[in-house]
Amino acid sequence: MASNRRSPSPEPPGPQPIRRLHESLINRIAAGEIIHRPASALKELLENSLDAGSTSIQVTVKDGGMKLLQIQDNGCGIRKEDLPLLAERFTTSKLTTFSDLSRLTTYGFRGEALASISHVAHLTVITKTKSNDCAWKAAYLDGSLVPSKAGYSPDPKPCAGNNGTTIIIEDMFYNTPTRMSALRSSSEEYARILDVMTKYAVHNPKVSFGCKKAGSLSPELSTPSCSDTSQAIRQLYGHSIAKELLHVTASSVSDDNTDMDDSDDPEAWSAEVYFTNVNYQGKKTALLLFINHRLVESHRIKRSIESVYSGLLPKGSFPFVYLSINLDPRSVDVNVHPTKREVHFLNEETIIERISDAIQQKLAGQSQSRVFEYQTLLTGGIAQSGSRKGKEKASNVDEVEGDGEGPEDDRRVSESQVAKKVLSQHKVRTSLQDRTLDSMIPVTDPLRNDSDEPVTAIRLRDIKESTCHFTSITELRRLANKRIHYDLTEIIKKHTFVGVIDLYRCLTLIQHNKNLYMVNHAALAEEMFYQLALLQFGDYSRLKLDPPPSLRMLVKFAVDAEEDTARSGMSKDEIVDRIVKTLMDRREMLLEYFSLDISETGDVKTLPHLLREYTPNLDKLPMFLMRLGPQVLWESEQECFGSFMRELAYFYSPAPLSVGLAPASDEDEQENLKSEAWRIQNILFQAMRKYLAAPKFLLDNDVVQVASLPDLYRVFERC
Ligand code: ADP
Ligand code: MG
Repeated sequence: MASNRRSPSPEPPGPQPIRRLHESLINRIAAGEIIHRPASALKELLENSLDAGSTSIQVTVKDGGMKLLQIQDNGCGIRKEDLPLLAERFTTSKLTTFSDLSRLTTYGFRGEALASISHVAHLTVITKTKSNDCAWKAAYLDGSLVPSKAGYSPDPKPCAGNNGTTIIIEDMFYNTPTRMSALRSSSEEYARILDVMTKYAVHNPKVSFGCKKAGSLSPELSTPSCSDTSQAIRQLYGHSIAKELLHVTASSVSDDNTDMDDSDDPEAWSAEVYFTNVNYQGKKTALLLFINHRLVESHRIKRSIESVYSGLLPKGSFPFVYLSINLDPRSVDVNVHPTKREVHFLNEETIIERISDAIQQKLAGQSQSRVFEYQTLLTGGIAQSGSRKGKEKASNVDEVEGDGEGPEDDRRVSESQVAKKVLSQHKVRTSLQDRTLDSMIPVTDPLRNDSDEPVTAIRLRDIKESTCHFTSITELRRLANKRIHYDLTEIIKKHTFVGVIDLYRCLTLIQHNKNLYMVNHAALAEEMFYQLALLQFGDYSRLKLDPPPSLRMLVKFAVDAEEDTARSGMSKDEIVDRIVKTLMDRREMLLEYFSLDISETGDVKTLPHLLREYTPNLDKLPMFLMRLGPQVLWESEQECFGSFMRELAYFYSPAPLSVGLAPASDEDEQENLKSEAWRIQNILFQAMRKYLAAPKFLLDNDVVQVASLPDLYRVFERC
């Protein structure tokens, strides 16, 4: 028999006795039912912290929570005398009699979470109540207290600590290898942790949540303690969702009296929904469903909401919905599933229907207001006629210029310079040759201005990557990484600067090893600025324009300078109006993510400052603002951010506005050209050494090997 061969036993196999499973094994199996993965443990812990009245919950994670999952709150703490019982199964402070069960309004009530965790991980609790003088630390294994070190007593030890509770879970599933192997990569587990936290943070906007990886200084998720639901959605799910949000409430009571606490009707309920309108089209339904403040799942609710949208959204597009339902706890049966995720409740069908109807009505009222897309319209006109690397017209705001003396993060633009702003109106219509190159003066060249010493190199400040949990930004960062050409990056990093050949055509010569390369420094710089924009997304220094110029005026300069606007079918004024409106409508987002501060009255107060040692040529500001209208794909988050940053990078690049302009002969202008060349060599190429991860496509047009020195020597030897 096959089984005989496998078994070394000489006896023929008889029926095996039925044995009671060892209790610790039973517990471990039961625990695995509740604690599937780090994120499910975290959910229980978050709920405990919220039950304890915390206003701040900070989570630290190592290896996707498998090595360490720590949660620190500032809640009521646990009494020292309760610590021995804490991790025993079915111990809870939330329920003492059976009738309590039906009245319970807190999250957990089965007293299983901590017990379960202690069966599958090393659990340590540090806690302090207000009335205790010190904190107490206790370690648990398999449901009971254990000594933290061999040879010590298992009793809780006094230690220093703040009011509140810190729960530390280490080595999750160390004793349940099957669970362990069912887990995904630590980054995926971490993503699930962030997902759970993000959802609870939306539901609890008054509580400050933080989540970070162990050893990292900056949190991946961090929310303030006092916002409201729509602010929280904006912060956590991004502007593209937040700006399309609608809001309705529904309840069992038809009039305004939706206050459930007063009523003793077990069938009373109330619901609040924030949901996207038809302008938002997600890849799959994002449903944040909370029933009595617990994050749960309900396929019925999901299906019902999806059917509301199915007639309104294009096929394959889905909404974002946050739905919070409060029911009499007596009518909820959350225990049907061991993880308590899928719920059922009394009058489920009626309630779902009422909520879906409310959503549908609101959507119907909104469906006329789809955002008018004018992108294509303008691309035919302005966008294409103003070809990027070519023939943009001068729209002078060269008076708006940094004086290089800004305090802290802000760089100010001097008043006297801006005072001349009005004159620009005249300049705009004059010929290109009249345009001065004033603005090319290295405004951030303090070293040069302040001393007579020749400056050889400028020390660049370090720039750190901003933390950002938008998938769009993560994705753009990933794409940028994918494009890197390592050899070219190496050439730029290690190059020796030879000289600017032609400022108008943006050509510079650099040397690497024995090779000479001619590069388009504007293209290289543009790519670097794009990467700097991506790197610092959401956390830019600000370049202050003081006094702030008017957005409308700047856009008008640029539009007026456009020759070919007729094809757009709109008058110049209409185009200006539309661009100004596009930007004004998005002021909040532009400020929040890009530090582009436009005042309520339409003045441009600050611009994102990508590289503190370098100020962009403000001549290009009108062009930049004008292009934001048609060139940014405002309607999709990733494309919006991506295209905005591309435009920003182009604005920062040293490509002159008027390519092909005859070199100036005037002495002053020669001086200006010299300082421009100085900035390119000493600031831009230094910065490129440090920050440019050169993408492959630069090899297509922008980097050419012009000679190899050994070959040149050979040529000269022959002469
Ligand atoms: P349950 O939440 O179902 O009561 P748990 O095992 O999750 O069971 O928690 C057991 C008990 O431990 C809770 O009832 C509560 O008294 C206490 N507790 C757990 N976490 C905290 C915390 N962060 N702050 C205060 N008390 C807590
Ligand atoms: Mg609990």
